Amino acid sequence: MKKNKDNDRVIFTKQMKKDYTILMPTMLPIHMRLLEKTFKLHGYKVVLLETNNQNIVDEGLKNVHNDTCYPALLVIGQLLDALHNGGYDINKTALIITQTGGGCRASNYIHLLRKALKQGGMGHIPVISLNISGLEKNPGFKLTLALTVQLIYAVIYGDLLTWLANQTRPYEINSGETDRLVVKWEDRLSEEYKKAVNLRLAKIKSNMVEITKDFATIQKRNEKKIRVGVVGEIYIKYAPLGNNNLEKFLADEGCEVVVPGLLDFLIFKADNRVDDVNIYGGSKIKKYLINKFIDFMLYLQRTMKKIIEENSSYVPVTQYRELRGLITNDYVGYGNKMGEGWLLTAEMLDLCHMGVNNIVCTQPFGCLPNHIAGKGMIRKIKENYPSSNIVAIDYDPGATKVNQENRIKLMLANAKEISSAQ
Ligand code: SF4
Repeated sequence: MKKNKDNDRVIFTKQMKKDYTILMPTMLPIHMRLLEKTFKLHGYKVVLLETNNQNIVDEGLKNVHNDTCYPALLVIGQLLDALHNGGYDINKTALIITQTGGGCRASNYIHLLRKALKQGGMGHIPVISLNISGLEKNPGFKLTLALTVQLIYAVIYGDLLTWLANQTRPYEINSGETDRLVVKWEDRLSEEYKKAVNLRLAKIKSNMVEITKDFATIQKRNEKKIRVGVVGEIYIKYAPLGNNNLEKFLADEGCEVVVPGLLDFLIFKADNRVDDVNIYGGSKIKKYLINKFIDFMLYLQRTMKKIIEENSSYVPVTQYRELRGLITNDYVGYGNKMGEGWLLTAEMLDLCHMGVNNIVCTQPFGCLPNHIAGKGMIRKIKENYPSSNIVAIDYDPGATKVNQENRIKLMLANAKEISSAQ
């Protein structure tokens, strides 16, 4: 087994790319399915894990130190659960995990995972780092320009599908129609990816128009539901495994869920690199290239907003620059960039501006940065936006689902009271 001299890690080789199955942990269901299909088109045998069971938590508790962030425990637990119970040949299996490259512990989940593998006698399994900071390299896995661009398109499509589906599903007259449309587009987009000609910007734009029009034609009931925003640490906010199926719970309670997109987080992370060069110095070329990358993502986001506005009556997405502009001196500063940093505060402010006053702020155990930018900002937001109705919910292996749901129900009772008084 080929090992890297620097840190003794197992290298993912070109030969492995041909033979190995690569297991990828879950996070956002729609986005991740598109990402999985994108990787497959580039020759990687990626399998997205969509498991959700108690053994995942137990594996995490057994193999990750219990003062580590809850998302690390779940991500590592899910991968180990798959290795033990998924029927994969552990001599032909690799794992893939993200590394943010920032100062937060998300850069180090990969080392915790390798330690857990070693302790469990599976130290020979290669772990691929998915990052845009050039942190670890493997000859068998390359984030080429083509793959990177396609992954970004998958994110933008994922954001659009999720955004429109969330505004449609609670009101659909024919049950299941929204979800069927999502699946139809997932299949169509991944099929189109096979031809390079479909990666032209003009095609991406025309697809976005078609998607928006398709959702707009779904027959909806003319009723008003309570809108509830979901913000927080990225994994717990998005992953049903992390937040005990929060979106489903809110939908069952008769709410419309409003969840900010993933693209903002990617732009935020890239923007942080620019701030680093501005504050601490660094390569001007790197700053130039990152700015180009940011401009491209901002352009796609602008385009998406315009298309939604021009082709439907859906609420459009907010632009990253507008979010950044919401951070005034009352709140955390731009230097606060660990975890979701100021973006988390900005997302709560944005929801208040959109009239989505009811907000669940999801907080994982062990996550100090998001407690500061999330829970820590709630009092100030309530002072500045008196009609805001925000509840912070902690997620950890010991927190009971019933307790979490009861606290959310209390917030919803307030929301209903306010809405009936209006
Ligand atoms: S953002 Fe929070 S949960 Fe995520 S790595 Fe940082 S401390 Fe852990």
